[in-house]
Formats: sequence, C-alpha cells, structure tokens
Amino acid sequence: MNEITTIGILGAGTMGAGIAQVAAEAGLEVLVHDPIPGATDRAVERIGGFLARKVQKGQLTEEARAAAMGRLRTSAMLEGLAVAEMVIEAIPEDLELKRDAFRRLDAAAVPDTILATNTSSLPVVRIASAAAHPGRVLGMHFFNPVPLMALVEVIPGPLTDQAVTDSVAYLARLLGKTPVVAADTPGFIVNRVQRAYYLEAFRILEGGLAGVEAIDDAMRGIGFRLGPFELADTVGTDVNIAAGISIFEGFFGDARYRPAQVQRRVADAGRLGRKRGAGYYDYDADGTRGSAWSALSVRDGRVPRVGPLLAAQIEARILATIVNEAASAVADGVASPEAIDTAMRLATNWPEGPLAWGERIGLTSVVHSLDALHASVPDGRYRVTPLLRVLADGDGTFFTGRA
Ligand code: NAD
Repeated sequence: MNEITTIGILGAGTMGAGIAQVAAEAGLEVLVHDPIPGATDRAVERIGGFLARKVQKGQLTEEARAAAMGRLRTSAMLEGLAVAEMVIEAIPEDLELKRDAFRRLDAAAVPDTILATNTSSLPVVRIASAAAHPGRVLGMHFFNPVPLMALVEVIPGPLTDQAVTDSVAYLARLLGKTPVVAADTPGFIVNRVQRAYYLEAFRILEGGLAGVEAIDDAMRGIGFRLGPFELADTVGTDVNIAAGISIFEGFFGDARYRPAQVQRRVADAGRLGRKRGAGYYDYDADGTRGSAWSALSVRDGRVPRVGPLLAAQIEARILATIVNEAASAVADGVASPEAIDTAMRLATNWPEGPLAWGERIGLTSVVHSLDALHASVPDGRYRVTPLLRVLADGDGTFFTGRA
C-alpha cells in the first residue's frame, strides 16, 4: 500500500470539516470537495476559526496553524479528489447518494487509492459494491466532534482487502486517533451497544415505573456523564430515532432493538432536542436544562402504580441490558471484548467498558436480572446472550489471560 500524504474529503459538512481539520493538523495535504456552492469555503473558514482559537489557548503555535491552513485546498470537481492516495466520504446518510459517489470515485481513481465512508448506519458492503474495485473500500467511522473524539471505528466489509484495513488503522493513529476494527454489522460497535442504554431507559419510562429525571439521575449517579434522555437530546431525538430504526431493521425486526413509541412522540412533536430548545427536557435560551416535558411525566392516578423504581433497580436493569448487548456483539464476532470496551469508553465517556463492568458486578447477577426481566416480558428483548450465560455458569471471563 502506498504511503498516504494527500487525503481527499468528499462532503464539507460537520464531519467532513472535522476530518479535514485533523488531517491538515497531522501534516497531510487535504483536498476538499462539496457540490453545494459555498460549502467548502464555509468549511475552510470554520476550520480557520477553530485553529485560531487553539492558538489563543496556547494549544497550537501560529506557525503550525498557518502550515495546517496552507495544506487545505478545495477541489471544484469530485473527480479532482482522485489525485489523493485516500478519499474519505462524509456526505449525507443516503445509500443511493453514497453509492453514486463511490461509483464515480472508483472510476476516477487508480485501483490502489483507498476509498472510505464515514457512514454511521449503512452497511459498508452496500456502498462498496457500487465500486468496480470493492476491495479498496471500507468504513472509517469518526465521532462528532472529530477533533475531540479519540475513537475511530475501522470497518472492513466482507470484500475489503486486509492491507486496506491495516493502512486505514495506521492512518487513524497518524491522525491521533485510536482505531478499533469492527465487523460490518448493524450499528458497528458503539451505536449498537449504546442502543441498549437508550432502549432500556425508554422501556422503564413507558412502563410508568420511573420518570425521565429519575432515570437520568440514577445513571449519572453511577458515573455516566449524561443520562439516556439527556444524551438523546444532545444527539437530536430525530437522529436518535432514525439510528434506532436503522439498527432495528438491520437486525430484521429483533425485539431487542425495537424502538419505543415515546421516541416517536417526542420527535413527532418537533421536540428534536437541544438544537430546538426542547426534547425530552425543556431548555432555557442559554441551553440550561429545565424540567422534563410535562407530557412525559409518570402518569400518577391514571394507571395503578406500585411506586417508582429505586435508583438501584434502574441502574441494574440498564447495566444488564448493556452488558447483554456487548456480549452479543462479541458472540456475533463484531470485535474482541477488549476492542468493544475500548470503543465504548472512548466514544461515550462511560466510566468503564461494559464487559469489564459486567464482570465487576458479577456475570451471574447480570444473568439473573435479565432472566427476571425476560420472565415478565418474554418477547425476546431480554433473552440472555448464550455466551454470557455460559461464562456466568462457568465462572468465566470475556478477557483472555484473566481466567
Ligand atoms: P452534514 O449535513 O453536516 O454534511 C454533509 C455535506 O455533504 C454537506 O456539506 C453537503 O453540502 C454535502 N453534500 C450533499 N450532497 C452531496 C453529494 N451528493 N456529494 C458530496 N457532498 C454532498 O452531515 P454530517 O453530519 O457531516 O454527516 C456526514 C456523514 O457522516 C453521514 O454519513 C453521517 O451519518 C456520518 N456521521 C455523522 C456524525 C454526526 O454526529 N454528525 C457522526 C458520525 C458519522
């Protein structure tokens, strides 16, 4: 594989601009293309603003800023990106748009140019198969905001050459990131395991067992930086339900990933989260979180109540479903247990990787929690991952060298 000195970026939005910035800071020549008039200029301007602030804060020298800006160029044509040794695509999350872009990039570039997609939820192989040389195509999933987030999921599809995966993992390190290789499966690692964090919270709310604030408080109480509802508001309730539906469909309607009605109610009401000043919570003009949307309050008086769940029960339920999901990702061969824990810590700021956490709680206790939940709702959403049960029964560990 050739050394990568020039990188092409297709799409100059939130992610494209972030990737262009870290690449230019890392010393690569960067070529950016966006078909929307003015988009690349706005991206370069934004990057200039970020780098200038880094200089003011003493995080970057003036010389380094000027050199990084000097390495940023724009290309008027998509095909102009083909002079780079690698192109990263960051255009909207639309399969046909991406397939068309990869068809064109593939036709324009020499066969050993690497083509990467930053897709969050589309199967990499469905994008790669549009290219005449799918072996050079893979996923390179950055997280937002790119300059601050250390994780990159590197996602080889079933057609990707091993050398391409190795080169991209190397490039991720060059950009100052930690690469984690994940199989091309719905949600990869982070979006799949994180689904459990949201979904169990939605189920507790929908069951009338605890309110939005109580659930968020419980999870913050054990070290999560944001509760599930605060997190959904930060990501955007529209983006969150779209990601949830995509994973649910990716798993052919498995009950484990079924989105909750409350997600639709909130998004349909136009309460799209922080960006709209209202989501699961109301927000003040300065972004301060107010109280939960009154329509979501636990319905005192309207349904028989057994008293709200204790924080410890909320924590146990949500943690058990996260551990179960992480175990199912291991069992499905998505990534190694170590990689899954690293990915979750880096992408979500969780205080501990889910598998290590599960072992600290005790896998037997996790399995008991899940079995009890499954007994009350036996539609499969709480079924214990067989690998988890085997390890719990045999007092085993996910991690090699620990047993
Ligand atoms: P964005 O809307 O901010 O940017 C997309 C850019 O693509 C825009 O500048 C737009 O002008 C341009 N564009 C539109 N049509 C195009 C085309 N046909 N060819 C080339 N460019 C085109 O979107 P984003 O948030 O940067 O997301 C880009 C990709 O990254 C998506 O696949 C998304 O799922 C993924 N992603 C987003 C995030 C996030 O948090 N925003 C995180 C990880 C991955």
